[in-house]
Amino acid sequence: MSSKENSFSLKFDTTWTYAEAPESTSHIELKKKYDLFIDGKFQTPASKKYFKTINPATEEVIAEVAEASEKDIDKAVKAATKALAPWQKLEGKERGKYLFRIARLIQERAREFAVIETLDGGKPIKEARDIDIPLAAAHFFYYAGWADKLKYAFPNANVEPIGVAAQIIPWNFPLLMAAWKIAPALACGNTVVLKPAETTPLTALKLAELIQESGLPEGVVNIVTGDGKAGAALVNHKDINKIAFTGSTQVGKLIQKAIAGTQIKSTLELGGKAANIILEDAPIDQAVEGVINGIFFNQGHVCCAGSRLFVQESIKEEVEQKLMARLQTLRVGDPLDKNTDVGAINSKQQLETIEKYLKIASDEGLESFQTDSKLPSSGYYCKPTLIFDVPQSSRISKEEIFGPVLAIQTFRTVDEVIEKANNTPYGLSAGVWTDKGSKAFNLSSQLKAGVVWANTYNKFDPTSPFGGFKESGFGREGGMHGLDAYLQIKR
Ligand code: NAP
Ligand code: MG
Repeated sequence: MSSKENSFSLKFDTTWTYAEAPESTSHIELKKKYDLFIDGKFQTPASKKYFKTINPATEEVIAEVAEASEKDIDKAVKAATKALAPWQKLEGKERGKYLFRIARLIQERAREFAVIETLDGGKPIKEARDIDIPLAAAHFFYYAGWADKLKYAFPNANVEPIGVAAQIIPWNFPLLMAAWKIAPALACGNTVVLKPAETTPLTALKLAELIQESGLPEGVVNIVTGDGKAGAALVNHKDINKIAFTGSTQVGKLIQKAIAGTQIKSTLELGGKAANIILEDAPIDQAVEGVINGIFFNQGHVCCAGSRLFVQESIKEEVEQKLMARLQTLRVGDPLDKNTDVGAINSKQQLETIEKYLKIASDEGLESFQTDSKLPSSGYYCKPTLIFDVPQSSRISKEEIFGPVLAIQTFRTVDEVIEKANNTPYGLSAGVWTDKGSKAFNLSSQLKAGVVWANTYNKFDPTSPFGGFKESGFGREGGMHGLDAYLQIKR
């Protein structure tokens, strides 16, 4: 099949613009069928099997994507192994040039990436456009800058790349997670085999096209698509040297078992159940906005989502009233509409999981609130939901729902809220809203979470390390700390 036959153009009206996107990308090129990106080329899978990726907002098939088997994974790991020595030998500044080039190409194609991200995963276009894609480019720019400065990052030490990095990412921030993984790995001289999530492979494959265009040496980045079986085959491959995984705590545990007793290094970014805490002296309107953003951003499919709200008792009523009023103004629906605040749930399976938790809440007799607005008739949607007076013992306050559902609890004293907030197996993030800097510092030092935001929430920057405590995983991505994960450091 010629590449022309194998592609089609989707036309969208250009009612929104993105400052960095050239006008020439006003149509989006998508193929009908995507192969595996191995050794710098798109290759058909050994099994000749393909799976469908759909648009969760409409349930329509967007494209067919190759299903990688053990054979393909082996081929990808071999390509990454072969590419390792010449890539490691390149001077840092030369490796950096490729990363800068990839960063610029992402910026040039930002509009196309944003539309594909929204089509494949269901997130509001304004989030893909303003957050996911610019941040993905920013990660490449940031780590491009480190490529020739590693010896300054680790003075008096010899640093070497770890080798072949197996990287497995989830569906909530597909391109951004690929950037978080690939950029530091390459800056440090490693080569990569990356597996995107089954429901959102398209922006990683678009990135593969762009990597090809950038002239990056063949085999330095390989992108293999498939489901959890492909991920497991990668984890169990004997020639990988490092695993970087972002996903559920459950799969994180499987990975730890699989590599126990081997020399394979790992970093795991897992689930979360973050506390977002409003003290009575906080600027309430600002805090309410932060809580809304904290839980409804990306439909709540966010590992660091502020899914447990702790409100000081004296302001409970005011905060709850304001949250309910704000829910009335949230626009839920077509993710491609630039005014949409809450898009589609990523998959049928995830919608069922969220609905299961809503049923648990009602079975437990908990009071909840949703607006009476209408949802689209096809596609996977869930109304933003507040659940009130959730006890510490409820599954709603203990388990990660990964959807637009906020569990509200109250507290009287700071000591009480610290104890309640830390009473979770997770420890990825937290938020504190207060007028007093001293209170923010006190809480942030006592909350067992990798990231604590004060008077803001869900702020990400490539210079800042991100990662968990406890069952939220270990290792840090982002910032200088993100380099450690891809280097052997000899002091
Ligand atoms: P998941 O089921 O753990 O999947 C994550 C990735 O692992 C996907 O690519 C998945 O493939 C693959 N996978 C599944 N089973 C595997 C196995 N046995 N061995 C190796 N790989 C396997 O998680 P998810 O449901 O997609 O994502 C949501 C979870 O990710 C949430 O718990 C969330 O908190 C967490 N998350 C954490 C962070 C963080 O930075 N800490 C960021 C985002 C998400 P398929 O998708 O094809 O099954
Ligand atoms: Mg999809």
